[in-house]
Parts: sequence; structure tokens; C-alpha cells
Amino acid sequence: MDQRRPDAAPTARLGALATLPVFFRLTGKPVLLAGGGDGAAWKAELLAATGAQVRVFAAEPGEKMRTAADEIANVEIIPRGWAASDMQGCALAIGDVESDDEAQRFRDAAHGAGVPVNVVDRPAFCDFQFGSIVERSPVVIGISTDGAAPVFGQEIRARIETILPQGLREWAKAAKAWRPSVMARHLDFRARRRFWERFTRRAMEQADVAPSEGDLTELLASIDTDATSAPTRGSVVLVGAGPGDPDLLTVKAVRALQSADVVLYDDLVSPRTVNAARREATRIAVGKRGYKPSCTQEDITALIVSLALEGKRVVRLKGGDPMIFGRAGEEIAGVLAAGIPLEIVPGVTAAAGAAASLGLSLTERETARRVQFITAHARNGRLPDDLAWAALTDPRATTVVYMGVKTLPLLVDRLLAEGLDPQTPAIVVERATWPDERRITGTILELPEKVAEAHPAGPCLVLIGAALGGIRLPLDRPRS
Ligand code: SAH
Repeated sequence: MDQRRPDAAPTARLGALATLPVFFRLTGKPVLLAGGGDGAAWKAELLAATGAQVRVFAAEPGEKMRTAADEIANVEIIPRGWAASDMQGCALAIGDVESDDEAQRFRDAAHGAGVPVNVVDRPAFCDFQFGSIVERSPVVIGISTDGAAPVFGQEIRARIETILPQGLREWAKAAKAWRPSVMARHLDFRARRRFWERFTRRAMEQADVAPSEGDLTELLASIDTDATSAPTRGSVVLVGAGPGDPDLLTVKAVRALQSADVVLYDDLVSPRTVNAARREATRIAVGKRGYKPSCTQEDITALIVSLALEGKRVVRLKGGDPMIFGRAGEEIAGVLAAGIPLEIVPGVTAAAGAAASLGLSLTERETARRVQFITAHARNGRLPDDLAWAALTDPRATTVVYMGVKTLPLLVDRLLAEGLDPQTPAIVVERATWPDERRITGTILELPEKVAEAHPAGPCLVLIGAALGGIRLPLDRPRS
């Protein structure tokens, strides 16, 4: 018979699993821990946190272990080495041992007593491994890379830490505490499910507000009234997607995307950013090239409102910051007029993204006392003629022009005519913060010609002002 351990094997519904994540209740159960070093002390603390009776076998326990035993009631040091007979009746055996030889004996002894075993740092001798933990107990998340790279596991853990609010713990406790009251209602399956869906939604949306009895009453009442009234309304979140790099999404933006039913996004939003949405969320491109051949602002607003009125959680993902040249005003008015709850999550505007990647401060104490964001694109597509020319020719200003490439030659002519110094430094940044970001630099006088030669096709910002005199970061530094 072939004695080799078969590899993890995919099934019709699951990819191959290197290990099975299981969550083991240890309260009151004895666990054997062999070894008294610092690593073992940490394991003792971890196991004790689950309520296990931790029996530490160590002839010479280190200081950390002695402290752990002093401070934690359910950690006990037995001041001698482990013996096979100590394994009897233990739920788990963990050995921080000296050699492969001892590891082998430890494992055999544990198996002889029918106890699952872990030998620290010797995966070949382990039945189970310890993962990295994200703790919002009773919500506990374990992360395993099957020993591939602990640092990788720690980074994954750090990411999960940032997106899960601390307050989830209180909501999970409330779920446990409220379960009997919900059961006592004898709701049918669908109503019960609706209750827990609404509970979950509230928990995710206001995780950092502690749940109260008032929440329970309200949620139960909302289920009672459902029988007679129309389905609940959805909600809308306007979310700033940042200038391109998906890592520039805010934590709040990721949370909104993670609880979305539908995501409507512009051309300017990168596919990786859209992919931060919940897997089940419907994604609709509503940019100039998406949804319909001519997707007008009115169409988009109407679509947002109708989806929310169907009860959907709608995320409207807008490039940069939603409140800067994003026609957010029209969407906000439409949503509020329909009586739909609205939230707005700010984002990194293109100017901030460009400044960061250029390594240039938009303000400088002497040379740039004012920053102004303008658009050089009027409704009719031409250069607006009512721009504040005195402000734009202020030698101590930094001007950032959105949607300004088409009309750049006209803008520059006019600025020079209004008295701007032709030697003023200026930069065009195309696709700021994207992997293929490009910069065109020069004086304001030279810039239109240089831009015409470079044929930028992506979104561009024009930055003008004395503060832009030097690019501090290398042009082709590696990017993630
Ligand atoms: N709300 C967005 C701006 C939308 S207007 C924000 O806050 O950034 C669209 C214009 O923004 C584009 O024409 C371009 O001028 C600018 N823009 C958006 N993303 C950009 C990027 N990654 N690089 C350069 N300019 C960008």
C-alpha cells in the first residue's frame, strides 16, 4: 500500500486546502506544554486565554514563564521534564523541545495517548499549527500560510486588523446575548434571517457604537412591521476611490465596498480598486464609456436612486475625492430628495496624489501661500473666461488645474497676458499614482508645446507655481 501522505486535493466545490481551520474550545481542559523558554511562555499565555488548564513541564523555567505562572491562574509549572504518562487526558500537547530526537519522542508519546501534537518550529512533527490571530472575541480569526512564510501571515493579519473595527466584539457578544430573545419570538425562518441580516448590517455600519437594548427593540420592531409594510429602503455611500493606486483607498472606503450590494464606478477608477468590493456585489461602469453609450449625469443619479429604492446598499465610487470636480452635488441632491440615507467617504484627490508622487509640497512658507484647484474645462468644453485671473497669476500661489489639458494652450496664453511670469515652473502629471504615471516638466511658457509632443491619453493634472521648481522623487522608482 502506498504510505505517502496524499497532497491536498481540490473538490468540485473547494480548492485544495493545505490545512483545515477549526476553532477548538479548550475551556477547563488540560493542555500539556513542554518547555520553559520565552516562546513557550507566549504559548502558555495564549492557551490560558482560552481558559485551558495549562500544565507546563519545565525543569528550569525562564523568567517569562515564571511570571506567566505567577500572574495567570490557569498556568501551572511542574518543575521537571515531561514524561509520556503526563499526556493522558490532555486535549493538546505542545512541545518546545531541543532536538529532532526529542521531537520524535514527544510526538510518539502524544500519539500513544491519542493527543494531537504541535512541536514548536518543527512542522514535520506537527498535527496542527498555530496561526496568526485577529482577536475580536467571540469573533476569532485565524490565519495560516501552512508555514510558507510567517511574515506574510503577519501582514495579512495586519490588513484584517485595519478593516475590522474593534467594536465588532461588542456586537458579536450582543448577538449571543440576544439570540434567546429572538428565538422567543418564534419567527419563521425568513423573518429570522432578515433579523440577523439587519443586525449584521447595523453591526458593520456602526461597529464602534456599542449595541444597546434599544437596538434590539428597534430591530425586532422592524421585523414585526415588515409583515405589513413595503421592503426597507437601501442606502447610498459616495466613496472617494483616490487617484488610481488602490492602496490609497481609505479604511472606511474598503468597509463600504465590503458591504455593498451594487457598486457604480467611473472610468477613472482602477479595476483593482473596484475589486475591493464584496465578491457578490454587482459592478456597474457608469463612466463615459460604460453602462450606456451616453451615460449622462441625470442617468447616473436616476440609477443610484432607483437601486437604493429597491433596497440595495449602493456604493457610488468616484475617482479622487467625491467632493472635488465630481458632480457630487447633483447625486447628493437626488438621493436626499428621494429620502434615502446617504453617507460620504472622502478620498485622496488627484492633486494630493500627484504632489505625493512628485515629492513636492504644494505649499511653501515663502513661495506658495495659496493652493487653488481649478478646472479649465467649461460646460461647452472651452476655457472658462470667468476664472479669477488675479488669483491665478499670484506669484505665491500653487495652481492645480483639473481637466486642463485640452485647453492648456489657451489657458497659458491668457495667464501670460494677465501677467504670470513665463519662467514659472509647471508640471503635467498624467495618471498620477498609477504604475504608468508620466510627468512633463518645464516652464509655463514651454509646457503647451511639450505636452502636444507627448500626446497624453490618460487623465492629467496641470500644476503651476514656484513651489514646483524641483522634482524630488526619482521618475522611475519601483512601485507596488
Ligand atoms: N474627483 C476627482 C476629480 C474628477 S475630475 C479628484 O478628486 O481627483 C477628472 C479630472 O481629475 C481628470 O480630467 C484629471 O484632470 C484629474 N485626475 C483624476 N485622476 C487623475 C490622475 N490619477 N492623474 C492625473 N489627473 C487625474
